[in-house]
Amino acid sequence: MPEGDTIFRAARTLHLALAGRQVTRFETVLPALQRVHDDEPITGRTVDGVRAVGKHLLIEFSGGLVLRTHMRMNGSWHIYRPGERWQRGRAAMRVVVGNTEYVAVAFDVPVAEFLRARALDRHPALSSLGPDLLAPDLDVDAVVGRLRARPSTAVADALLDQRMAAGVGNVFKSEVLFVCGIDPFRPVSALSDEEARRVIDTSRELLKANVIDAARNGAPEWGGGRRTTRRMDPSARLWVYGRGGRPCRRCGTPIACRKQGADARLTYWCPACQK
Ligand SMILES: [Zn+2]
Repeated sequence: MPEGDTIFRAARTLHLALAGRQVTRFETVLPALQRVHDDEPITGRTVDGVRAVGKHLLIEFSGGLVLRTHMRMNGSWHIYRPGERWQRGRAAMRVVVGNTEYVAVAFDVPVAEFLRARALDRHPALSSLGPDLLAPDLDVDAVVGRLRARPSTAVADALLDQRMAAGVGNVFKSEVLFVCGIDPFRPVSALSDEEARRVIDTSRELLKANVIDAARNGAPEWGGGRRTTRRMDPSARLWVYGRGGRPCRRCGTPIACRKQGADARLTYWCPACQK
């Protein structure tokens, strides 16, 4: 599942390529989207903006139509110049939104639908989301309270629960708890107030640090790989995620790895550094 920072970057990059420009090309292999396009064409509309809401990406078109996509595990949006060769095959294409300068292609997105802008707030997938950890005006105390409201849940599972707060995915779940020195299997009730606060603050910091300004040289561009260690070496970007059995970067203890939670997502942690 892409993390909040990935979606945020994707939204920003798409915004730079699409916003304020008239749509000159729209294609889709999804019948429900095609039907909307047949009835009220997307071409000719202007993209008002692109934004991330939790892990949902919303492309807002003039005339009150919004395209919601959710990337889940394998979906992605790419941006190309018209005529440029795609990095993925046409079989994986689900939606194309283009203007005279850029072509945005959604590959393998499992969720894509048109919504009415005025109905967005009532949409079940959007209204059940907790506050976005990347929101600049986030009420951190309120998020700590939402975490506290799940006392019997393991802290790693609570962090992944997008109804608690939106943004942390499976990679950051492990990284945040390593940075905080907290055992991922501890129930939320076993966290001190200071620890609960640190978990939320750290989640926010790591997500923010991975939101790189996509506008380099004025051209939309994807940010680099995710990093939590502040090291530039690409092989040393993460503390624990994906490092099962390898030595902890702080103490040398082998990193542990176990499936956790209802979805059996992998959790990585250092049994010595995290208590
Ligand atoms: Zn360690």
